[in-house]
Amino acid sequence: MTGYVIETRNLTKSFTGFTAVDDVSLQVKQGTIHALIGPNGAGKSTMFNLITKFLQPTSGNILLDGEDITRKKPSQIARMGAVRSFQISSVFPHLTLLENIRVALQRKMHNSYHFWKSETGLNVLNDEARSILANVGLEDAENNLAAELPYGRKRLLELATTLALQPKVLLLDEPMAGMGTGDVNRVADIIRRVAEGRTVLMVEHNLNVVADLSDTITVLQRGAVLAEGPYEQVSRNKDVISAYMGA
Ligand code: ADP
Ligand code: MG
Repeated sequence: MTGYVIETRNLTKSFTGFTAVDDVSLQVKQGTIHALIGPNGAGKSTMFNLITKFLQPTSGNILLDGEDITRKKPSQIARMGAVRSFQISSVFPHLTLLENIRVALQRKMHNSYHFWKSETGLNVLNDEARSILANVGLEDAENNLAAELPYGRKRLLELATTLALQPKVLLLDEPMAGMGTGDVNRVADIIRRVAEGRTVLMVEHNLNVVADLSDTITVLQRGAVLAEGPYEQVSRNKDVISAYMGA
């Protein structure tokens, strides 16, 4: 074992005439919160898309728990425990919150719909779904339709459906985007809590959040790693400062 949950080796992605991710070797340690930051267009989302295999790399390798996943499909990677949340809608608007979580649990636990047919089975599922909703502070709305939720709470529901899959590593692309301060703090608390016993790799623009939550930060600029380390170190790096000042 390498001790890394996610590792990329010389990962490169070129689009026609343009290299969005350029020879990136990233190492995400087990049990840490690792943030990927950088100016717009730095290649953060492309990195996520490569790691989850929504995009095929031009060259280089991706490892999950030491296993080469470079040629695996997104569904296989999700089943191996690397689950992506946000920016991908995992919410069914016309189901209630409880039903949404039940669908996710069903996917993880049984992969069949027979379980629902027995009343005991349904009760077990409901209990578990309720505890997941409580985890993200949505327990008061279990019978509401997902479509009725305001934006911030809809994203909390998305996070909850992801947690139902019990991921080993959670990939969050801008979990706080578009949220008000209350929801930002709530999501930060949730991330901290869910990170216990798991690994989180997140892209986030809010540097206060990044400073507060991350063990390690990797700064990307024009597709390449500009700096890496804990916040105190990275935030004093001259190259990082000038990248953020637009110099
Ligand atoms: P970030 O998430 O850091 O803002 P992205 O990874 O989305 O950056 O994009 C990095 C660069 O790659 C940008 O210049 C973007 O325009 C380019 N890019 C991303 N996806 C594509 C694509 N499918 N085709 C061509 N260029 C792309
Ligand atoms: Mg992006």
